[in-house]
Amino acid sequence: MMNQHKGKVILVGAGPGDPELLTLKALRYLQKAEVILTDRLVSETILHEYVNEDAEIIYVGKQCRRGVSTSQATINELLVHFALEGKLVVRLKGGDVSIFSNILDELETLVENEIEYEIVPGVTAALGAAAYAGIPLTARDYSTAVRLLTFYKSDVVSAEYWKELANSNDTLVFYMSSETLSGVVENLVAHHISADKLLAVVEQATTPMQHVHTCNLYEYQAKLSHKKFASPSLVIIGKVVALHQQFKWLSNSNNTKEYFAPVQNHSSYKAARA
Ligand code: SAH
Repeated sequence: MMNQHKGKVILVGAGPGDPELLTLKALRYLQKAEVILTDRLVSETILHEYVNEDAEIIYVGKQCRRGVSTSQATINELLVHFALEGKLVVRLKGGDVSIFSNILDELETLVENEIEYEIVPGVTAALGAAAYAGIPLTARDYSTAVRLLTFYKSDVVSAEYWKELANSNDTLVFYMSSETLSGVVENLVAHHISADKLLAVVEQATTPMQHVHTCNLYEYQAKLSHKKFASPSLVIIGKVVALHQQFKWLSNSNNTKEYFAPVQNHSSYKAARA
């Protein structure tokens, strides 16, 4: 039997940046939440304007680039701690809750502790970036499928799989890979990816700082390899990227400020509760 006094955890996707991409369901839960555990890639506007003003907001962001992160064990502990206090807890994640996130660890923790939960999907970065860059991911005659990938470290993609990716007509979307983009391009070029496939890097998609860079993979070395892209950035590769030129409806921003504040050391649990 479920303990009657236990709270509940709602795992909510906040969308990729633009606060208006929140779902109504996410909004409704944010307005009821008593505790909100939030990732870094969630708009401050959402946290300032759309949440229950009495809610306790705890930043549990991870940012490996800066070497400051809240450990998964701490996040799991917090979820259990507040649910056992009987609270309605929203675990807010950037984009969608299940795409390249640690939802599995959190679900396992909730099940082990017999804590009730719901999952509310969000607009994942691939869909947000594609829409706001005017790149239809599976446009007829260009691509019939899309793959969501990552290359945050080299052993996540095998040599054989690179060959398949280079030869596939699927649109390839790489998360967490803008810093390793040279490696992505090298591997695809090594397997003779065709020259009519372009690459787009969408920096800070769906935010006022969105900037899209495109080039052919064979021009990458000369055109983009020197650039340090803003965090977060998403990479889209395929014939569909050519459509950006025709269908872009937002101009590139020249504002290079970071829309999402970097994770601070004070974001750890103890400091947040102090
Ligand atoms: N759960 C998230 C992804 C988390 S992984 C989702 O569904 O979108 C974090 C990666 O997502 C970043 O490294 C980046 O590649 C991508 N990302 C998230 N928000 C983004 C944004 N606004 N613009 C560009 N890329 C973004």
